[in-house]
Amino acid sequence: MDENYFPLKDETLIREHFMRQALEMGELALSIDEVPVGCVFVLNNKVIAKGMNDTNRSLSGHRHAEFAGIESVLAKHPASVFKNVDLYVTVEPCIMCASALRQLGIRAVYFGCSNDRFGGCGGVLHINLDAGIDRCYPAIGGIFREEAIMLLRRFYLQENDKAPNPTAKRNRILNTTVENMSIDNMRSYALLEAELVDVNGPAPMTVH
Ligand SMILES: [Zn+2]
Repeated sequence: MDENYFPLKDETLIREHFMRQALEMGELALSIDEVPVGCVFVLNNKVIAKGMNDTNRSLSGHRHAEFAGIESVLAKHPASVFKNVDLYVTVEPCIMCASALRQLGIRAVYFGCSNDRFGGCGGVLHINLDAGIDRCYPAIGGIFREEAIMLLRRFYLQENDKAPNPTAKRNRILNTTVENMSIDNMRSYALLEAELVDVNGPAPMTVH
Protein backbone atom coordinates (compact mmCIF):
# COMPACT_ATOMS: atom_id res chain seq x y z
CA MET A 1 0.00 0.00 0.00
CA ASP A 2 1.17 3.50 -0.78
CA GLU A 3 2.49 4.96 2.48
CA ASN A 4 1.26 8.43 1.50
CA TYR A 5 -2.33 7.29 1.16
CA PHE A 6 -4.49 7.82 4.25
CA PRO A 7 -7.88 6.13 4.09
CA LEU A 8 -9.45 7.37 7.36
CA LYS A 9 -12.72 9.22 7.00
CA ASP A 10 -12.66 11.25 10.21
CA GLU A 11 -11.90 14.89 9.33
CA THR A 12 -9.96 15.68 12.50
CA LEU A 13 -7.77 12.60 12.18
CA ILE A 14 -7.13 13.38 8.54
CA ARG A 15 -6.09 16.95 9.31
CA GLU A 16 -3.82 15.88 12.14
CA HIS A 17 -2.30 13.15 10.02
CA PHE A 18 -1.28 15.55 7.28
CA MET A 19 -0.25 18.35 9.64
CA ARG A 20 2.10 15.89 11.31
CA GLN A 21 3.79 15.43 7.97
CA ALA A 22 4.02 19.21 7.53
CA LEU A 23 5.64 19.42 10.98
CA GLU A 24 8.15 16.77 9.91
CA MET A 25 9.11 19.02 7.01
CA GLY A 26 9.47 21.88 9.49
CA GLU A 27 11.81 19.69 11.59
CA LEU A 28 13.84 18.99 8.47
CA ALA A 29 14.11 22.72 7.78
CA LEU A 30 15.23 23.30 11.38
CA SER A 31 17.93 20.65 11.03
CA ILE A 32 19.53 22.62 8.17
CA ASP A 33 19.14 26.07 9.75
CA GLU A 34 16.14 27.28 7.78
CA VAL A 35 13.22 29.04 9.44
CA PRO A 36 11.21 25.91 10.32
CA VAL A 37 8.07 26.09 8.22
CA GLY A 38 6.93 22.93 6.44
CA CYS A 39 3.99 21.94 4.27
CA VAL A 40 2.37 19.15 2.30
CA PHE A 41 -0.08 19.30 -0.62
CA VAL A 42 -2.80 16.66 -0.53
CA LEU A 43 -4.94 15.30 -3.37
CA ASN A 44 -7.58 12.63 -2.64
CA ASN A 45 -6.06 11.96 0.81
CA LYS A 46 -2.64 11.44 -0.68
CA VAL A 47 0.45 13.66 -0.34
CA ILE A 48 1.50 14.74 -3.84
CA ALA A 49 4.17 17.27 -2.82
CA LYS A 50 6.11 18.48 0.21
CA GLY A 51 7.86 21.75 0.86
CA MET A 52 9.97 23.51 3.45
CA ASN A 53 11.34 26.98 3.84
CA ASP A 54 14.46 27.42 1.71
CA THR A 55 15.25 31.14 1.93
CA ASN A 56 18.66 30.92 3.62
CA ARG A 57 20.20 28.23 1.40
CA SER A 58 18.83 29.72 -1.82
CA LEU A 59 19.41 33.33 -0.72
CA SER A 60 16.00 33.99 -2.21
CA GLY A 61 13.36 35.64 -0.05
CA HIS A 62 10.45 34.11 -1.92
CA ARG A 63 11.49 30.46 -1.43
CA HIS A 64 8.86 29.83 1.21
CA ALA A 65 7.67 26.29 1.91
CA GLU A 66 4.50 26.82 -0.13
CA PHE A 67 6.41 27.94 -3.23
CA ALA A 68 8.69 24.90 -3.06
CA GLY A 69 5.62 22.67 -2.78
CA ILE A 70 3.78 24.45 -5.60
CA GLU A 71 6.75 23.92 -7.90
CA SER A 72 6.79 20.27 -7.03
CA VAL A 73 3.05 19.89 -7.73
CA LEU A 74 3.35 21.67 -11.09
CA ALA A 75 6.25 19.42 -12.11
CA LYS A 76 3.81 16.49 -12.26
CA HIS A 77 0.32 17.99 -12.67
CA PRO A 78 -1.47 20.72 -14.64
CA ALA A 79 -2.36 23.84 -12.63
CA SER A 80 -6.02 22.82 -12.76
CA VAL A 81 -5.26 20.10 -10.19
CA PHE A 82 -5.24 22.70 -7.39
CA LYS A 83 -9.03 22.92 -7.33
CA ASN A 84 -8.95 19.47 -5.70
CA VAL A 85 -5.82 20.01 -3.58
CA ASP A 86 -5.58 20.98 0.10
CA LEU A 87 -2.51 22.57 1.66
CA TYR A 88 -1.34 21.76 5.19
CA VAL A 89 1.28 24.23 6.43
CA THR A 90 2.71 24.75 9.91
CA VAL A 91 2.43 28.57 9.82
CA GLU A 92 -0.34 30.63 8.24
CA PRO A 93 0.68 31.49 4.64
CA CYS A 94 2.14 34.97 4.20
CA ILE A 95 0.45 37.52 1.94
CA MET A 96 2.60 36.52 -1.05
CA CYS A 97 1.89 32.79 -0.69
CA ALA A 98 -1.79 33.33 0.14
CA SER A 99 -2.15 35.27 -3.11
CA ALA A 100 -0.31 32.66 -5.18
CA LEU A 101 -2.51 29.94 -3.70
CA ARG A 102 -5.63 31.86 -4.60
CA GLN A 103 -4.49 32.47 -8.17
CA LEU A 104 -3.78 28.76 -8.51
CA GLY A 105 -7.25 27.92 -7.15
CA ILE A 106 -6.28 25.89 -4.08
CA ARG A 107 -9.29 24.11 -2.53
CA ALA A 108 -8.50 24.71 1.16
CA VAL A 109 -5.65 25.65 3.50
CA TYR A 110 -5.07 24.21 6.97
CA PHE A 111 -2.39 25.81 9.12
CA GLY A 112 -0.83 25.48 12.58
CA CYS A 113 -0.07 28.89 14.12
CA SER A 114 -1.14 32.25 12.78
CA ASN A 115 1.21 34.82 11.32
CA ASP A 116 0.27 38.19 12.80
CA ARG A 117 3.09 39.97 10.99
CA PHE A 118 2.76 38.77 7.41
CA GLY A 119 -0.31 36.51 7.39
CA GLY A 120 -2.50 36.51 4.29
CA CYS A 121 -5.26 34.24 5.64
CA GLY A 122 -6.56 36.39 8.48
CA GLY A 123 -3.39 37.29 10.43
CA VAL A 124 -2.97 40.62 8.63
CA LEU A 125 -5.07 40.45 5.45
CA HIS A 126 -7.76 38.07 4.24
CA ILE A 127 -6.32 37.38 0.79
CA ASN A 128 -8.17 34.06 0.75
CA LEU A 129 -11.59 35.68 1.23
CA ASP A 130 -11.39 39.22 -0.18
CA ALA A 131 -13.50 40.14 -3.19
CA GLY A 132 -11.63 39.38 -6.39
CA ILE A 133 -11.64 37.52 -9.65
CA ASP A 134 -10.18 34.27 -8.36
CA ARG A 135 -12.25 31.86 -6.31
CA CYS A 136 -12.02 32.22 -2.51
CA TYR A 137 -10.69 29.39 -0.36
CA PRO A 138 -11.26 28.52 3.30
CA ALA A 139 -8.28 28.73 5.68
CA ILE A 140 -8.52 26.93 9.01
CA GLY A 141 -5.85 27.46 11.69
CA GLY A 142 -4.89 25.97 15.03
CA ILE A 143 -4.01 22.41 13.99
CA PHE A 144 -0.98 21.43 16.13
CA ARG A 145 -0.50 25.13 16.74
CA GLU A 146 1.69 24.66 19.82
CA GLU A 147 4.02 22.32 17.97
CA ALA A 148 4.38 24.86 15.14
CA ILE A 149 5.22 27.64 17.63
CA MET A 150 7.73 25.48 19.47
CA LEU A 151 9.52 24.73 16.20
CA LEU A 152 9.96 28.47 15.61
CA ARG A 153 11.13 29.07 19.17
CA ARG A 154 13.69 26.30 18.91
CA PHE A 155 15.01 27.87 15.71
CA TYR A 156 15.57 31.26 17.29
CA LEU A 157 17.24 29.75 20.35
CA GLN A 158 19.53 27.81 18.02
CA GLU A 159 20.33 30.95 16.02
CA ASN A 160 21.09 32.90 19.16
CA ASP A 161 23.52 30.21 20.33
CA LYS A 162 25.48 30.68 17.09
CA ALA A 163 25.65 34.46 17.39
CA PRO A 164 29.12 35.95 18.10
CA ASN A 165 27.81 37.42 21.36
CA PRO A 166 24.98 35.17 22.55
CA THR A 167 22.62 36.74 25.04
CA ALA A 168 22.88 35.68 28.67
CA LYS A 169 22.01 32.06 29.38
CA ARG A 170 19.05 32.97 31.53
CA ASN A 171 17.42 34.39 28.40
CA ARG A 172 18.01 31.25 26.36
CA ILE A 173 15.75 28.84 28.18
CA LEU A 174 13.12 27.38 25.90
CA ASN A 175 9.77 28.82 26.86
CA THR A 176 7.32 25.94 26.63
CA THR A 177 4.26 27.97 27.60
CA VAL A 178 1.92 28.75 24.74
CA GLU A 179 -0.93 31.15 25.31
CA ASN A 180 -4.40 29.91 24.50
CA MET A 181 -5.69 30.90 21.11
CA SER A 182 -8.46 33.46 21.12
CA ILE A 183 -11.22 32.76 18.66
CA ASP A 184 -11.39 36.30 17.32
CA ASN A 185 -7.72 36.97 16.94
CA MET A 186 -4.98 34.39 17.14
CA ARG A 187 -2.15 36.36 18.71
CA SER A 188 0.33 33.50 18.96
CA TYR A 189 2.66 34.85 16.34
CA ALA A 190 2.60 38.35 17.83
CA LEU A 191 3.54 36.90 21.22
CA LEU A 192 6.31 34.93 19.61
CA GLU A 193 7.65 37.98 17.81
CA ALA A 194 7.64 40.00 21.01
CA GLU A 195 9.62 37.30 22.77
CA LEU A 196 12.11 37.04 19.94
CA VAL A 197 12.76 40.77 19.95
CA ASP A 198 13.30 40.52 23.67
CA VAL A 199 15.77 37.65 23.38
CA ASN A 200 17.52 38.26 20.07
CA GLY A 201 17.02 41.89 19.19
CA PRO A 202 15.02 42.69 16.04
CA ALA A 203 13.63 39.61 14.32
CA PRO A 204 15.29 38.74 10.99
CA MET A 205 13.40 39.81 7.90
CA THR A 206 13.46 36.29 6.47
CA VAL A 207 10.92 35.09 9.00
CA HIS A 208 7.89 33.65 7.30
ZN1 LIG B 1 4.98 32.79 2.18
